[in-house]
Amino acid sequence: MDIFCKIINGEIPSFTVYEDDVVKVFLDVNPDVNGHMLIVPKKHILDIYDMDNDTLLHIFKITKEMDKLLKEKLHTEGLTLVQNNGLLQEVKHFHLHLKPHYSEKEELLPVEDVYKKLTK
Ligand code: 5GP
Repeated sequence: MDIFCKIINGEIPSFTVYEDDVVKVFLDVNPDVNGHMLIVPKKHILDIYDMDNDTLLHIFKITKEMDKLLKEKLHTEGLTLVQNNGLLQEVKHFHLHLKPHYSEKEELLPVEDVYKKLTK
């Protein structure tokens, strides 16, 4: 079983900022920026080639909601989306990276501190 399936079924803890029947959104354990999060489908979908349109649409709907949360709680100013398939995909379970932008360079905070800011 891949590591994201284990996070989804609760075997491995995560700093989860949102979840519903279709997706779980949690903070990346090794963030590039504060608020770097991953949107992951709950069913095991390997990559973009394996992805159905309904789930994809839902993931992008949730992306826009997470962008609002990031703007409100962390005062971000935009977003880069990254989604690896094949050779560069480390975890073999579809995930969309949300990497927010800041107007000034930010020191990386502990993931737990970012989680508290996002959920308080
Ligand atoms: P990929 O290269 O597959 O697109 O990226 C995988 C991402 O998953 C990396 O940014 C890595 O830090 C993150 N990651 C790997 N293992 C874990 C984990 O156990 N928990 C969390 N929250 N993120 C993980």
